[in-house]
Amino acid sequence: MSHAQLYPVPEHTKANTLVTNEQYLAMYEESVQHPEQFWAKHGQRISWFTPFTQVKDSSFELGTVHVNWFSDGSLNASYNCLDRHLPAKANQVAYYWEGDEPGVQKAVTYQELYDEVCQLANAMRRLGVGKGDRVTIYLPMIPAAVVSLLACARIGAIHSVVFAGFSPDALGSRIQDCDSKLVITSDQAARGSRLTYLKDNTDQALAHLGEANPAKHVIVVKHVGENIDFHQGRDLWYHEILAKEPKHCEPEVMNAEDPLFILYTSGSTGKPKGVLHTTGGYMVWASMTHQYVFDYKQGDIYWCAADIGWVTGHTYIVYGPLANGATSILFEGVPTYPSVKRIAQVVDKYKVNILYTAPTAIRALMAHGTVAVDGADLSSLTLLGSVGEPINPEAWSWYHASYGKGQCPIVDTWWQTETGGILITPLPGATALKPGSATRPFFGVKPAIVTNEGELIEGVAEGNLVILDSWPGQMRTVFGDHERFEQTYFSTYKGMYFTGDGAKRDEDGYYWLTGRVDDVLNISGHRLGTAEIESCLVAHDAIAEAAVVGYPHDIKGQGIYVFVAPRVGVEPSDDLTKAVRDWVRREISPIAAPDIIQWTPSLPKTRSGKIMRRILRKIAANEYEQLGDISTLADPSVVEHLIQNRLNR
Ligand code: ATP
Ligand code: MG
Repeated sequence: MSHAQLYPVPEHTKANTLVTNEQYLAMYEESVQHPEQFWAKHGQRISWFTPFTQVKDSSFELGTVHVNWFSDGSLNASYNCLDRHLPAKANQVAYYWEGDEPGVQKAVTYQELYDEVCQLANAMRRLGVGKGDRVTIYLPMIPAAVVSLLACARIGAIHSVVFAGFSPDALGSRIQDCDSKLVITSDQAARGSRLTYLKDNTDQALAHLGEANPAKHVIVVKHVGENIDFHQGRDLWYHEILAKEPKHCEPEVMNAEDPLFILYTSGSTGKPKGVLHTTGGYMVWASMTHQYVFDYKQGDIYWCAADIGWVTGHTYIVYGPLANGATSILFEGVPTYPSVKRIAQVVDKYKVNILYTAPTAIRALMAHGTVAVDGADLSSLTLLGSVGEPINPEAWSWYHASYGKGQCPIVDTWWQTETGGILITPLPGATALKPGSATRPFFGVKPAIVTNEGELIEGVAEGNLVILDSWPGQMRTVFGDHERFEQTYFSTYKGMYFTGDGAKRDEDGYYWLTGRVDDVLNISGHRLGTAEIESCLVAHDAIAEAAVVGYPHDIKGQGIYVFVAPRVGVEPSDDLTKAVRDWVRREISPIAAPDIIQWTPSLPKTRSGKIMRRILRKIAANEYEQLGDISTLADPSVVEHLIQNRLNR
């Protein structure tokens, strides 16, 4: 890994970057040596109603864990995203909305966004929703979704967005968990030509909660236009209530530590947690990371292809870009509809400069060779980004060569719902890249690697990734369960925030994420990360995607069970299976050679596209009857197929 090919910062990137390597090193040094001084300065990047005088007050000691930033300041997040850009940017496009079907589109300016946010905020106030109340948002990727988040922020209501792919049960449990007064949804949603009946799902979710349903009202956006059941007195049409409201609404004055939102984690490892973020520190973190990590300059066209249902959408579609007055793409569809060329077509259509997506999307496109980019121009692109999982070097190189034409740096951004924004990442103009490495910490972030016993390892290291001190964007608590917050993140290693991820640090101080520590394999006493073996498998010509898990093995303690999906046009065979086993043996080591290789058309994933190894582990161990919480699975039928064809019986 440490001998990986080095990609220096391209000259054209260096020539007009916000931060050179020298500047990065100096700023990073100041940020960790003098955090109070550093953040007192950078905290000014957003607009405050009352300036803060206190910068940081935090403790990671079990029993007294607390995180406060800028805590005597007051502000409003929607004011920072809208009001402060007006009137100068009134006619600048905030979002180019691109619908699921090509040709369906709409541009929304900062003024239009402001007007609609104010109207919805007024309408919500009229319904009795106010500061501190919870609102659940269950919407497709349409402008009304952004409006809903900002309208909540404007009146101090705490939004909880539930991804539109979730079932009625998953929606209901999230509405109940945070005691939402109001739900905002749409009639239906269209993604990749498939309809989801969001309003029907909402009706079912609320009916199922019965007496326990806390939601008094449901606001419905008319989007697709098919019929819905309308519950008089409870349901309200979005367009009707907005039409009655003025396009002005005084923003609520919020303390820096007043909650902004709750978001449930994606559930890769177990039951989702209601992660709570507050206003001041989060806004500083969202805007600062968005500007520096994407080297964002006024006029750039920026596209984060995530969904608003995930934290990436919150921070890098809504709050970060809007705080910076950016112009973004808001994409309703999926990368493979109507064909795998869609991303390239959208890039060319809007002359996108910055493209931020996930390894799962990149691998899905890569499985088709170069079809995804054949015939596309793509010359507007200057920067690419990746988030969500470790990006396999093979996928990195393909992304770099195909979309980036070898000219665009890739920022591989490591972070979590809990961290609010990016923590470990290259800066495009400062950091030489190594495919597969998230490289170096962002300003103010103190990562470290510890042994299982919690001993800090200096220099070149491999172990558990922890963060030693607080940063402004950090989550503040698990909603309604501070004890769970302390236990989950601060009880494993004394005085440290434990990420749950494993990492290596190489001789250049670069970090390499090796996968979740729960997934680490122990083969005859050798500890192997899943990321390294999976990357090796994906580098094989026949393989599109791979997931590696351990299973009980009489001799080795754990054996290696591999689930692989072939590339388009590849037929699995015994010879191919043998070739794949030899490939891993040769490329990594005989220790890493798979014991069992199961071919499958697809892998079980969370709805945000992450491989759920937890379920694969059960199947590999032949314990397929106790799969645990599978409510966050994208497609449960994949699991049934894997069980039917399991090889360890
Ligand atoms: P849960 O915590 O409920 O199990 P989750 O961890 O998948 O779900 P998220 O907060 O969406 O929920 O994901 C954060 C995790 O995603 C990280 O802890 C890490 O494992 C992985 N991850 C995100 N970005 C990267 C990256 N650039 N490189 C490697 N891993 C990444
Ligand atoms: Mg997690």
